[in-house]
Amino acid sequence: MAAPKPYFETVAVIGAGTMGNGIAQTFASSGTSVRLIDVAPAALEKGLATIEKSLARFVKKEKLTQEDADAIRARISGSNAVADAGDAALVVEAIVERADIKRKVFEELDRVTPSTTILATNTSSISITELAAATSRADRVIGMHFMNPVPLMKLVEVIRGQETSDETTATVVACSEALGKVPVEANDYPGFVSNRVLMPMINEAVFCLMEGVATKEAIDTVMKLGMNHPMGPLTLADLIGLDVCLDIMEVLHSGLGDSKYRPCPLLRRMVAAGRLGRKVGKGFYDYD
Ligand code: NAD
Repeated sequence: MAAPKPYFETVAVIGAGTMGNGIAQTFASSGTSVRLIDVAPAALEKGLATIEKSLARFVKKEKLTQEDADAIRARISGSNAVADAGDAALVVEAIVERADIKRKVFEELDRVTPSTTILATNTSSISITELAAATSRADRVIGMHFMNPVPLMKLVEVIRGQETSDETTATVVACSEALGKVPVEANDYPGFVSNRVLMPMINEAVFCLMEGVATKEAIDTVMKLGMNHPMGPLTLADLIGLDVCLDIMEVLHSGLGDSKYRPCPLLRRMVAAGRLGRKVGKGFYDYD
C-alpha cells in the first residue's frame, strides 16, 4: 500500500514510555517520519521493541500487511538527545508527569526547534499555561492528550493554555483528525475533563480496597458489570501506571485545593513499594 499523505512530514516525540511509543507508532502509521527521543537508552530500546510487538499484533490480526508494518517501523528513528527534535514541525512531549522536569524539557525544546514549531504536551493534568511560560512561544504550546493504548483509542483531548492561539488549536485539531482520532477541546484547569472525572473515581476505588469495603476483584466487577465499564478501576489504574495516577492526584489536590482530591494512602504505599502496575509486571494485580 502507498504511504498515506501525512499532515506533518516530521514530528518528534519526547519520552518512549507507555504513551510516547504509542504516539510515535500512531504518527508513523499516518505516514509521518518520527524521531522518538528518550534520555534513558534502555527506555528507548524498550519503546522501540514495544512498537515492533504492537505492529506484529496488527499483522497477526490482518489489520496491516507485513510490508505496511515494516514501512511504519522504518519511519521511526530513535535518539537519546532532546536536541534531536531539530526541525520537526510538531513536538509531542510524553515524559514523566512532573512539572519541574517538563518545564526543563520545554525550555530546551524552545532553544533547539524553529520558532514556528508547535510544542505539544501529552500531560494528564499539569498546567499547559505553566509549561508554555517556560518558552518564548506560549501561543504555540498546547495540550495534546492521547489516551492509552494510543494506537487503539480514538480520543485526543486538545487543551488550550491561557495564550494558545486559535491557529495552533486549529492545526492540532486538524492533525488529530488526520491521525484518525476524535479531538475534543478543553480549557486549562487541573486534570482537564478526562482526569478530573476519572482519577477521583480510581482514587475512591483504592480507598474502598484500603478500608476493606470489598476485595479488588469485587470492586472491579461491580464497576464492570454494574456500570458497564470495559474494565474495573483497579485494573485500569494498573494499565495507566500507579505512579502516574498518584502524580495526577497530587496535581488535582494542589491545583484545586480541595481535600476531596487527597491521594489515598494505599496508592502512595503501592508506589513506594514499586508496584507501579502493568509496566513493571505488578500493581494491584500480578502480570506475567
Ligand atoms: P512512562 O513512565 O511510561 O514514560 C516516561 C518516559 O519519559 C520514560 O521512558 C523516561 O525515561 C522518559 N523521560 C523522563 N525524563 C525525560 C527527559 N527529560 N527527556 C526525555 N525523556 C525523558 O510514562 P507514561 O505513562 O508514558 O506518561 C507520559 C506522559 O503521558 C505523562 O505526562 C502522563 O501523565 C501522560 N499520560 C499517561 C497516560 C497513561 O495511561 N500512562 C495516559 C495519558 C497521558
